[in-house]
Amino acid sequence: MPEQSAIDAVNQYFTEAARVIDLDDDLYGVLTTSYRELAVQVPVRLDDGELMVARGYRVQHNGARGPYKGGVRFHPRADLDEVRALASLMTWKTALMELPFGGAKGGIAVDPTGMSTDELQRMTRRFTQSIHHVLGVYRDIPAPDLSTNAQVMAWMMDAYSSVHGYSPAIVTGKPLDFGGAPGRDSATGRGVVYVLGACCPHRGVELPGQRVAVQGFGNVGSWAAHELAERGAAVVAVSDVRGGIVHPEGLDVAKAIATVRAGGSVVDLAGSDGIEPLSNAELIELDVDVLIPAAVESVITEDNADRVRARIVVEAANHPTTPGADKILRDRDVLVVPDILANAGGVTGSYFEWTQNIQQFTWKEDRFLAELADRLAKASHDTLAFAREHGVTLRQAAFAIGIRRVADATRLRGYV
Ligand code: NAD
Repeated sequence: MPEQSAIDAVNQYFTEAARVIDLDDDLYGVLTTSYRELAVQVPVRLDDGELMVARGYRVQHNGARGPYKGGVRFHPRADLDEVRALASLMTWKTALMELPFGGAKGGIAVDPTGMSTDELQRMTRRFTQSIHHVLGVYRDIPAPDLSTNAQVMAWMMDAYSSVHGYSPAIVTGKPLDFGGAPGRDSATGRGVVYVLGACCPHRGVELPGQRVAVQGFGNVGSWAAHELAERGAAVVAVSDVRGGIVHPEGLDVAKAIATVRAGGSVVDLAGSDGIEPLSNAELIELDVDVLIPAAVESVITEDNADRVRARIVVEAANHPTTPGADKILRDRDVLVVPDILANAGGVTGSYFEWTQNIQQFTWKEDRFLAELADRLAKASHDTLAFAREHGVTLRQAAFAIGIRRVADATRLRGYV
């Protein structure tokens, strides 16, 4: 269970970092609260005729540096507190990456498991109709997140365009033949590994040969595992919502991806080729070099942080570590690569897609991945250098860099 609300946890991280840069007192109030919070009713007629009424949210945290940017998730826990916290993380992430965006997040508090494609489409369109007036190509640009994908983005774009005219740049993470950018689908997961590769020397190790456990095998986790295997790391454990699997010498990642893409679960592979089952809780405590939580938030807490055996934790998921757990890991000298750096490949890839849509010009995937690698290398370098210079953690460094940029933009614009 989370030890405090999600927004309190993110604001605790904010405050620790703001102290490092001596942030002016009068900016705390502006930067720890959202600019706009929209909560809407989302009625959906289910296939059996029943009416389901879900709650949807769009929170725009800060737009000092550009249009609001952030994903939309379908998840039972996507309440206002969680969406608010995730919107705030997007503000610091886009600033750390020097992207011309602010931070936002959206969600519908619903369990999409078992919903039909028609039901998902009706729900997505209704949600978009209810929030379209706060969106815009230069105002707020959604993207995929937990349980949303390229198809959901295509529906959102169509619903928005039916009111505002053809607007491919209104969402990112679209299908490739509908305004999407080659490379965006893999950008978050690959980016996680680019950042890990940049941080390994900080611990005197190299990426090839590292033994890694990945929790969550959706968009982010499966692409991270793919990139890890390509770079010579051993992916010894993976999991999804149904549970996990482990092989001490390394799993066949391509086989696991094929199983999940065919509609199965990684647990379907347990029992063959020396693969053993394990629970999601056991995966967090596995004896590995690197742990990559890539599913949901608050999976490393004060209850299990002292049993994490990995020496490096890379936060591919947003907010997987509570502040209490973060302190335990820090005291145990575990290197935590924070979410706003580790998974920033996603929003950086979204930026590339957005710019291509606006210019009506397409890049080849090679260029996309090369630009992604360059930007993540720079942000990793900036974060590591700041941490060394100020004697702080990577999370404090990443937040501090982002906060300073947002604070500067807020002053320059004369907002306060
Ligand atoms: P996804 O829906 O594609 O995949 C989620 C995976 O996690 C699935 O394998 C699912 O089975 C598993 N899962 C769900 N609940 C779980 C639980 N309680 N325990 C263990 N596994 C569970 O989602 P995604 O896009 O891969 O997002 C994963 C995380 O990465 C989220 O925290 C999201 O905010 C973050 N993220 C995603 C992107 C992106 O571009 N998609 C960008 C930045 C950050």
